[in-house]
Amino acid sequence: MTSDTTTPGTTTRETHRFQAEVHQVLHLVIHSLYSHKEIFLRELISNASDALDKLRFRAITEPDLLRDEPTLEIRLVPDRERGTLTIEDTGIGMSREELAENLGTIAHSGSRAFLEAVARARQESAAGQGDKAGKPGDDVNLIGQFGVGFYSAYLVADRVEVVSRPASAAAGEAPQAYAWTSDGKDSYTLEPADGLAHPGRGTSVILHLKESEKHFLDEWELRDLVKRYSDYVSHPIKLKVAPKAGEPTADVTPKFETINQASALWRRARTEITDEQYNEFYQHLTHDWEKPLGRTHFRVEGTQEFVGLLFLPRHAPWDLNFERKRRGVRLFVRRVFVMDDCEELLPEWLRFVRGVIDSDDLPLNVSRELLQDSSIVRGIRKQVIKKTLDLLEETARERAEDYLTFWKAFGAVFKAGVHFDADQKSRIAPLLLYRSTHGEGYTSLKDYVARMPSGQEAIYYVFGDSEAVLAGSPHLEALRKRGYEVLYMTDPVDEWVTESLNEFEGKKLVSAMRADLKLEATEEEKKAREADRGAVGPLLERMRSVLQEHVQEVRASDRLVDSPCCLVVPEGAHHAAFDRLLRSHGHTIPQPKRILEVNPSHPLIVSLQTIFSRDANAPRVGEWIEMLYDQALLTEGSPITDPHRFARRVTSLLSEAAQVAAGAPAGATNAPGNS
Ligand code: ADP
Ligand code: MG
Repeated sequence: MTSDTTTPGTTTRETHRFQAEVHQVLHLVIHSLYSHKEIFLRELISNASDALDKLRFRAITEPDLLRDEPTLEIRLVPDRERGTLTIEDTGIGMSREELAENLGTIAHSGSRAFLEAVARARQESAAGQGDKAGKPGDDVNLIGQFGVGFYSAYLVADRVEVVSRPASAAAGEAPQAYAWTSDGKDSYTLEPADGLAHPGRGTSVILHLKESEKHFLDEWELRDLVKRYSDYVSHPIKLKVAPKAGEPTADVTPKFETINQASALWRRARTEITDEQYNEFYQHLTHDWEKPLGRTHFRVEGTQEFVGLLFLPRHAPWDLNFERKRRGVRLFVRRVFVMDDCEELLPEWLRFVRGVIDSDDLPLNVSRELLQDSSIVRGIRKQVIKKTLDLLEETARERAEDYLTFWKAFGAVFKAGVHFDADQKSRIAPLLLYRSTHGEGYTSLKDYVARMPSGQEAIYYVFGDSEAVLAGSPHLEALRKRGYEVLYMTDPVDEWVTESLNEFEGKKLVSAMRADLKLEATEEEKKAREADRGAVGPLLERMRSVLQEHVQEVRASDRLVDSPCCLVVPEGAHHAAFDRLLRSHGHTIPQPKRILEVNPSHPLIVSLQTIFSRDANAPRVGEWIEMLYDQALLTEGSPITDPHRFARRVTSLLSEAAQVAAGAPAGATNAPGNS
């Protein structure tokens, strides 16, 4: 019998309360998730498979772990009489402490992220945009992604028992087995268990199925689900089958039938694998609920031999930007699982890639240290980069819409490659996409260059927090007037990307916010400009002295059309938005003084100059200069030092203007401010 194991042994039964996060996840699973309940099987088989992988890997150095029980397999045991479905494995097992730790707490932020993701999926589906992730009830597919897969057992069971005995290499008596039991409400119990269905090590997860879920005891349903979700699990999954009609029912040893392929999918020939199988393998690997955007399956031969199967996900995982990188690329050595998330195989900027690398050359007992300075690993990494770039190029070329999906999810991670991997710069650059003043959609640098009007020498961009702020930026004015397109750069990493890239197809990348923006002008323009400059010379002098603590220099500008002034970045300094970002991450960096550029033909500047020339000591001139500076800060999204003073001054100016408007005969028919 599979599960008559919870009778207390010599020691006592202890009851523990669930950690608050577990409690929340369970509550959600039990009360709100109704569709796709069958994923519980995928999750529990995946845990069993992980446990077998861990054991197999440890047994490379400690072969005695397998002494008493050499088989590595997963068994499914439906029991109609008891109404239970048991998922057993001969894997690494869990000690009493591990049972409490792994099934009673969630050590990482996964649970919170999970609850948030479910809430978001619901909102989206409520808002009717839920074509992809947001189908009501599809939330259930989020479970595995967040490291809370085990709790999906409660989709179908109202009580779950987990009986486990840890693997041990020591000779003599096997470690004590323990049973963890819970109805998924507030608490679980732990107690010694007499044993497992199988004598050795491993784990049995016994699901007491809800009345409505008893159909999961059906052989055909189980076969079908395993085919659909777990065919590519590389360990055999065996189903206990009932004796056929006519066969003697008593006294026969239970019959098990292997119901999955149990071979490493990536080792099969491409032509033998259907799209569907690839997608299912991907979902098995990542617990993603969507199909991948693309894949590349390759074998490298020669001095090095390995197989790679890599996928591009459709959307960013919740922890893309955190240190913790669950499931990245899994490393196998001659089909034996070695580790998850093998960072050495992938550069940071490709950390969104998922898949499998299976090397023929690495030693089985490969350690982290060895990985770090192995020429084999470096060779693999080079190929992984090459194949991923091939895949991205192909996607961009043949499936523009998919490429855009990729870009929105991972562009900010990917483009850092320009900075971190000089060798790949020339391959990454054509794959960059940006929003621009050109309008809807995104543009590549190539398309930008193709649109450049004659006379335009450089690729222009502005850098800031958001497109909304940048679109109104005074820095764009002269470029816009000339009909030049400007790229919006809003990812912090763009600051490095543009620095490292420097040029594309021979055209320099130039920030419209930098001091050295040199725009060519006609003779006529130059003359007019000189005249204006001469006229405002004394005012600029006054501005320099008023603002000397804040800016490096005040000078006449040729980049402004409609705005009176703007701040520009001196050579060698960072864009203001970039410095702000570093500061918001706790870096203390000096505030480099910037350059205030003034539009000498703007009516406001011209009038200020007139007032100033009449009375060099007019007190309001100094005040207005400070206001202009504050306003320049505001337009670029920077904070101003004294917002209250700024507000007081604006109020006082508005009051004056309002009084004039109210008193003036012409304004009498109009409400103030209505002009
Ligand atoms: P994840 O698998 O993403 O870590 P789960 O909620 O599925 O999250 O499982 C939680 C943890 O419980 C696992 O990380 C593992 O340590 C432990 N666990 C679950 N099932 C088994 C099993 N069959 N054998 C050994 N350990 C298991
Ligand atoms: Mg799991």
